[in-house]
Amino acid sequence: MVKPIIAANWKMHKTISEAVAFAKQLKEGFPEPCQTDIVIAPPFTALRPVMDVLKDTHIHLSAQNMHWEEQGAFTGEISSSMIVDAGCTFVIIGHSERRTLFGETGAMVNRKISAALKSGITPIFCLGESLQERESGTTFKVIQKQLKEGLNNIISDDIRRIVFAYEPVWAIGTGKTATPLQAQEVHRFIRETIATDCEHVYAPETVIMYGGSVNPDNTRSLMNQPDINGALIGGASLDYSSFAEIIRLAEKEGE
Ligand code: PEP
Repeated sequence: MVKPIIAANWKMHKTISEAVAFAKQLKEGFPEPCQTDIVIAPPFTALRPVMDVLKDTHIHLSAQNMHWEEQGAFTGEISSSMIVDAGCTFVIIGHSERRTLFGETGAMVNRKISAALKSGITPIFCLGESLQERESGTTFKVIQKQLKEGLNNIISDDIRRIVFAYEPVWAIGTGKTATPLQAQEVHRFIRETIATDCEHVYAPETVIMYGGSVNPDNTRSLMNQPDINGALIGGASLDYSSFAEIIRLAEKEGE
């Protein structure tokens, strides 16, 4: 049985005090380890203060991005050792907003994944097709290419330490969710592709989360698909009660 992950991606939202207040609610609301792993990804400025609240809990901290180099003249960037220093054990890599708005390429995603693994952080490797790609029937081709680029030169033992997040770009922040069957068929494809193309023997145990307008109303139908092992949540993770409700629903699904 794969332990699902419910992760909050706060993007460029929440001041330090708002993030800390949310983390305190989360710590009180989920005092014991659950059947799902909980991860929150605040903006960089709030990482350390949130860590101070969550240390000694079972709740994990994630960064939303990182640079692949360890240090140097990279104005505005943050390295893997810096996010480890802030308390992160996860990092989101290759989010579609990074790819489309900030020109992140598959090769850059690959370097970031390798650097995260080297630092002992779990990369949450995001992949997904655009609306135009879905409508032109190239979804699987696009996903296969993203996998190939992102996992280039990464050995099976290391792929084991990666968490995948299928996020159809057309479903992110749009209110349009992939149907459970649409999501399931891509999740199955990802699992099969890493098993065959990457000879990844641990594919059946790999966590593949779904992301794209997840909310308390659609959580159960998505989470009861056999190849969906959790959710990466943007908008609905900003409000404590809706995020907590999603965690509770995912827990029930795992019972
Ligand atoms: C995301 O940005 O990773 C995401 C899934 O956002 P939303 O839940 O708002 O669609």
